[in-house]
Amino acid sequence: MGSGQVTSSVPSGPSEFQGKHVTVAGLGVSGLPAAKALHARGAIVTAVNDGDDARAREQAAELEALGITVRLGDGATLPEGTELIVTAPGWQPDKPLFLAAERAGVPVWGDVELAWRLRGPDAAPWLAVTGTNGKTTTVQMLASILKAAGLRTAAVGNIGVSLLDAVLGDEKYDVLAVELSSYQLHWAPSLRAYSGVVLNLAPDHLDWHGSMDAYAADKGRIYEGNKVACVYNVADPRTEDLVREADVEEGCRAVGFTLQAPAVSQLGVVDGILVDRAFVENRQKNAQELAEVSDVDPPAPHNIANALAAAALARSFGVPAQAVRDGLRAFTPDAHRIAHVADVDGVAYVDDSKATNTHAAEASLAAYEPIVWIAGGLAKGAEFDELVANSAKRLRGVVLIGADRALVREALARHAPEVPVVDLDRTDTGAMLQAVTEAKRLARPGDTVLLAPACASMDMFTNYNQRGDAFAAAVRELGA
Ligand code: ADP
Repeated sequence: MGSGQVTSSVPSGPSEFQGKHVTVAGLGVSGLPAAKALHARGAIVTAVNDGDDARAREQAAELEALGITVRLGDGATLPEGTELIVTAPGWQPDKPLFLAAERAGVPVWGDVELAWRLRGPDAAPWLAVTGTNGKTTTVQMLASILKAAGLRTAAVGNIGVSLLDAVLGDEKYDVLAVELSSYQLHWAPSLRAYSGVVLNLAPDHLDWHGSMDAYAADKGRIYEGNKVACVYNVADPRTEDLVREADVEEGCRAVGFTLQAPAVSQLGVVDGILVDRAFVENRQKNAQELAEVSDVDPPAPHNIANALAAAALARSFGVPAQAVRDGLRAFTPDAHRIAHVADVDGVAYVDDSKATNTHAAEASLAAYEPIVWIAGGLAKGAEFDELVANSAKRLRGVVLIGADRALVREALARHAPEVPVVDLDRTDTGAMLQAVTEAKRLARPGDTVLLAPACASMDMFTNYNQRGDAFAAAVRELGA
């Protein structure tokens, strides 16, 4: 859906934004449609942006043509008369603009808050997903299940599809599968999802949020005001704590998901079958079979957890068991998320380039054994001791690449001194072919060579996609 469509459903009645001075902070994916939607509702919009590059100028020209004031290269000062700020989600709360807003008593909303407030009276309910890892996969599984149930739906939000477009566009939905980042939740004080889930919690983006507690609290906002179910991860008690702290609607239930046999009010796994003991009649005695573990692609433990979370949200919306199975079968994961690239000489090569933090890498290392692990890149302040200590017994060998590889090497020396390590002292793009060559040398038939870097890619590559593509190309070159 193009951002131009957002003006198509401007309500004919008076708007609460009429004549209001609104500052839109940050152009780009969310800023442009926000500025247009507010302008179309009679707001007097000023858009501000830190950067002043070619793309920003192009977007500024588009807004100026509508009569919107744009200030490029100045995202710090609060425009005079501002009554409301609508910010891009990534803008950090301690920016001078927000401190000035706080002093002046000016509220700050994010793109999600704006979409929530602008949705119509018959708007589709939101099934909302957050967590440190697995959001995109879970939201896509959820949308696939909802579609299999014959519902009109879309996967929207942090997944790259603007919520504002989804809410204001012409397309009609029965329910939305919404991915929310911790940033978006931070700026969405009045959001009330139908049901929500925090998939897991591990330290991430702490410089933005200020502390682990603040990060967890922002994630926990997804449960505020839930109508039917707050879904939590039984293996991650902090997610259940967040449910306990939330203020929900009368009758809303806490529903857990687990890789073990489910207790009452949980979804779990019994003998390779995904089962529901939450959304069934007489759940003390009964359980409903939903799907088989082999219906989930890939059937790695963390991905089964994602499937159970998606199933719980769908079941809270009344989706029948068969649609869960059909939806999971129809789902294929996005590229670079535990993608099986090829088998060469009895060794499997798996691309999990999207494992850009230690929590994600630990999940994918837990899915294979023995592993030749390709790791390294930009550490973003992470520590590797826990990851290495928990994964050491699975490692046949390790090949290190990237700028911060010494951090991983030191953790390996501390917790896995017997594991052979090849340290590639280069950060050029071509290093991947050498890394795969070394991995091939270390691997024995039956092993898995796993690219799960636990680090960001930007020291060597444009992004994790390019890193994964380089890995796959190297595997093909060696296999040929
Ligand atoms: P997100 O949208 O939260 O970044 P993705 O679904 O794109 O999550 O998955 C990103 C990476 O996180 C995957 O490549 C995988 O390594 C890891 N991952 C996925 N699901 C989980 C999970 N439930 N727990 C831990 N790690 C996970």
